[in-house]
Amino acid sequence: MIKVVSRNCQSYEIKKLKEHFIEIFFESNSLKKIKSLESVLLKPNLLGPYSPQKGVTTHPIFVSALIEILKDFNIKISLMDNPGGVNKYEKVLEKCGYTNLKKKYGIKIFNLTETGIYKIGKNPKYVVSKPFLDCQAIINLPKLKTHTFTLMTCAIKNFYGIIPGLAKANYHRLFPNPTKFAEVILNTYSLVKEKIVFNLMDGIIGMDGSGPSSGNPKNFGVILGSKDAIALDICAANLLGFNFKKIPIIYLSAKKYDLSYQEIKMLGDFQKKDVLENVNIQKCIISNRILRIFSTPLKNFIKIFFKIYPVFSPKKCTQCGNCIKFCPTSALTFSKNSTIPKLDRSKCILCLCCIEICPQSASSLKKSLLSKIFLN
Ligand code: SF4
Ligand code: SF4
Repeated sequence: MIKVVSRNCQSYEIKKLKEHFIEIFFESNSLKKIKSLESVLLKPNLLGPYSPQKGVTTHPIFVSALIEILKDFNIKISLMDNPGGVNKYEKVLEKCGYTNLKKKYGIKIFNLTETGIYKIGKNPKYVVSKPFLDCQAIINLPKLKTHTFTLMTCAIKNFYGIIPGLAKANYHRLFPNPTKFAEVILNTYSLVKEKIVFNLMDGIIGMDGSGPSSGNPKNFGVILGSKDAIALDICAANLLGFNFKKIPIIYLSAKKYDLSYQEIKMLGDFQKKDVLENVNIQKCIISNRILRIFSTPLKNFIKIFFKIYPVFSPKKCTQCGNCIKFCPTSALTFSKNSTIPKLDRSKCILCLCCIEICPQSASSLKKSLLSKIFLN
């Protein structure tokens, strides 16, 4: 049996979190293995410069609690993620509350500019930051969120962050279909799978709605832990109210690694059948359905009748230019005197990168009346 251990936890109190984590490690038979490590790389979700209250990134107190435990075990700790877009890493760390971790605990926080990359495989070639492959072990610290393009962000998808920021956009361009894109994510997960000793999910404050940065922060009050990222994602999907068999990343991963639902045992405060109250996954499911239709061979025909495209709010946009630099098809530009990016719809592949990386949540998906009527 593969164990997923759950805890109901409503706030970020370091003492309480440490108690939960030790219990979770013990109940999932991982405590001994973790104690035996000499060094470990922590992989939080640091999507971009968002304050912890927004529910977008792994909370710094969640990470602090784990660091204190690992320091007690005399384990050398480092941390890394590759945020999306072109935000300065230092700015992301500061906004997400991680700068203090470096000072307080003296841990190493790797920066892409000093670490370098490996290039692996062919068609596509994967560009991976070196520390993820050079480290002895990884503890994965995903955030629990819905996501229009992949339906859910959790443990497996967190390893898309081993790819440096701007290189990610290239995979969106090459694989605009959500199922094909899920294969890319599964491949990045597979590259580091053997290094992962534990997955500890921060679902205390998560996010629902369209996500992964422009949804609604929600107090889910959940921590999940497991040695197995796929089993953890299946339990997390259940809690949000998804049918996990309809989430491509999860079903492709379960198939590849031959994991059946019956093999998963959920322990702790939540059961496999439990669904959290007040979680809105409908918006995300509908938008995902639309994206699938738009990535079929019929897309050009459908596009004539069903107009869907990103729009930008002049009230929120600060003209930072992130979306323009990150757009994989150069569909966005700033024209003279414009306060928002200008979209060339013929180039847009609806990858939603511009929505994902906008630090102001100024970008959203606009649907024409026909789209709303027939695709909702
Ligand atoms: S929409 Fe405006 S604020 Fe958002 S990333 Fe683009 S330029 Fe920056
Ligand atoms: S405009 Fe936005 S959704 Fe369209 S291709 Fe560029 S980043 Fe993707």
